[in-house]
Amino acid sequence: MKFSDIIGREEIKERLRRSVKENRVSHAQLFLGPEGSGKLALALAYAQYINCTRRTPVDSCGECPSCTKYGKLVHPDLHFVYPVAKTKEIDDKPLSKLFITYWRDLVIKKKAVFNQHDWHEHIGLENKQGIINAEDCNEIIRTLSYKSYESEYKVVIMWMVEKLFHAAAPKILKILEEPPEKTLFILIAEKPELILPTILSRTQLVKFNRLADEELSAALIFHTSCTPEESGKIKYIADGNLTVAIKIIESGESDQLNFETFRTWMRLCFKRDFAEIFRLTNDFSKLGRENQKRFFNYCLKATRFCLLNRFDNTDQIRSEGDELKFIRDFSPFINPANAGLLNEAFNQAYYHIERNGTPNIIFLDLSINVMRWLKMK
Ligand SMILES: [Zn+2]
Repeated sequence: MKFSDIIGREEIKERLRRSVKENRVSHAQLFLGPEGSGKLALALAYAQYINCTRRTPVDSCGECPSCTKYGKLVHPDLHFVYPVAKTKEIDDKPLSKLFITYWRDLVIKKKAVFNQHDWHEHIGLENKQGIINAEDCNEIIRTLSYKSYESEYKVVIMWMVEKLFHAAAPKILKILEEPPEKTLFILIAEKPELILPTILSRTQLVKFNRLADEELSAALIFHTSCTPEESGKIKYIADGNLTVAIKIIESGESDQLNFETFRTWMRLCFKRDFAEIFRLTNDFSKLGRENQKRFFNYCLKATRFCLLNRFDNTDQIRSEGDELKFIRDFSPFINPANAGLLNEAFNQAYYHIERNGTPNIIFLDLSINVMRWLKMK
């Protein structure tokens, strides 16, 4: 992948190029930022750039032997570590290298824009969670003890460091502290609060913010060939997350359904209409986990917008049409006290859905709480 294959993120690209130009590539870097902000794509472009034999000041050439191998993710000095677990096909010791064909396949197909759920689904983990296990860390340390085959730099890209199993951490810490010559570790993570502080302190931080509206629109058009009009609508919903934005375009759905469900649900909770809430609970339980999670994400966003509206921070509200009208009408019922409770509860609901909680129990419990909280002054 070349830098030019990635839309936007110009500041980060420039910073990475400069590190190469000034010959101060830090050996352990942490690419930290929200889902869908381009971390993996940039990590790949950076590694390719470092090892390109014909790079220009702006980009790798994309054609030299190193770039060609990087493009197919088959370079012998490029290594990956990512969360895995036993699957039907790989049921002995799950190691990243055993899943490499799956990994190459997904990274290339999705141009490095996908999330953990996509990865788990791709390797057939179904409802299990992948982890980065100690054996995988040993394996990478073993590999790095060999001389590099072809290029100046050996590169290890460790994706989703928050999934590093705690027992495995000391091994990684040791190698981050005393890395072999000419080795670059790029650690990728979304949630700083889940990363061990010792890892944070041993890496140089490269922070990724959410994509700006213009960046998201341009990237979406690049990835899906949607029209500028479509991308304009979706940027409100996707909230800077390219992975989600692409999914919405590809699935042909939008957050319209989530909005309508949320509006109905809030009205029913306000009226304490149990009969209808039971019916809605039943509908909700049939949505499928990914859609349920997306719904709770939407709830978080809607609550935030209502609170912003209440305190007249309207320029931060990314909404229009019926949705905006609803936010204005509903915001008098959202205040700092209940917004905190709602926020916590929607996050918890997301978490429980992700960990295979029973959707109708989660939804109904939440409805009962929401009824109470909406009456708070
Ligand atoms: Zn090249």
